[in-house]
Amino acid sequence: MGTYPTRVERLPSLSRPTVSLWVKRDDLTSDLYGGNKVRKLERLLYDARARGARRIVTVGAVGSHHVLATGIWAREQGMQLDAVVVPQLKTAHVLENLRADLGAGVHILPASTYLRAALRILERICTGSYYIPVGGSSSLGTLAYVDAARELASQVRVGDLPEPDVVVVALGSGGTAAGLAAGFALEAMKTCVVAVTVSEPSWWMAHRVRSLAASVAGREARRLRQPVPEPRLVVDARYLGAGYGYATEAGVRALSTGADVGLELDLTYTAKAFAAALDRVEVGGAANILYWHTLSSAPLDRWTDGAPVEAALASEVRGLLL
Ligand SMILES: *Cc1c(COP(=O)(O)O)cnc(C)c1O
Repeated sequence: MGTYPTRVERLPSLSRPTVSLWVKRDDLTSDLYGGNKVRKLERLLYDARARGARRIVTVGAVGSHHVLATGIWAREQGMQLDAVVVPQLKTAHVLENLRADLGAGVHILPASTYLRAALRILERICTGSYYIPVGGSSSLGTLAYVDAARELASQVRVGDLPEPDVVVVALGSGGTAAGLAAGFALEAMKTCVVAVTVSEPSWWMAHRVRSLAASVAGREARRLRQPVPEPRLVVDARYLGAGYGYATEAGVRALSTGADVGLELDLTYTAKAFAAALDRVEVGGAANILYWHTLSSAPLDRWTDGAPVEAALASEVRGLLL
């Protein structure tokens, strides 16, 4: 589905004499819909197809990138997505994603709480749908980011960039950061992953990403008959602000800094992670910092053109826009 390797760039205007800032352009995984979910969906949708699934069920916030990515890619693979969606703060970006969901033919099942969402998911699983958990962060989805870490290791080997001391990435459901930390450890790299928490509760996210990294590192090490390495992972919850989907001042500043160097960021995930990367450049102490860019930069107009505007959304769906 995606095109690899995604390129790595140095950002000279944001680097310091002793600290280089790099970016891994996973926004460019695909022109259809890119970002970090593509790598996970390659494995998940392949598994769904291999099991003969025609329908997929997944869950996310009403403006979720994961729901949109899954809807677009499931459609591309000839499968239908039922998305159980829960409330989220209403922003222009959230509305655009929701409209693109509808334009891509995603069947939206509104749920006012996660408990109701669980019941709706169970109903679908019982009628034979293939279940993809929130953010695609099952072990299978996480393994995709072990491979992404290996991709970066080869870029280091061919001299595209020096081995990063730190990789900074947003922590939503955990698969991306966990897979990277496990992959760097399996590749015997020194790189430490800084996972910037954007969802809540942050203590649970920290637990979840660590246990996912340890279990995937263990599984892969056993498969390859190599000693189980210790993933290097730091969880940074200082950029969360008022919570999932709430903009922060640091994020708004990072968004405009990103725009100056040609990176399009969003306020829920990537602006918070980029703010953390910029602060680490200021603090120093690491020679090479790599910000892993996870937001799709593919245009959405082909999906949003003709999709209903906010006022025309079903009232149960409008009720999820806080
Ligand atoms: C989903 C998402 C993330 C978080 O990735 P996880 O693997 O869920 O932690 C980061 N950035 C963007 C833009 C996303 O859509």
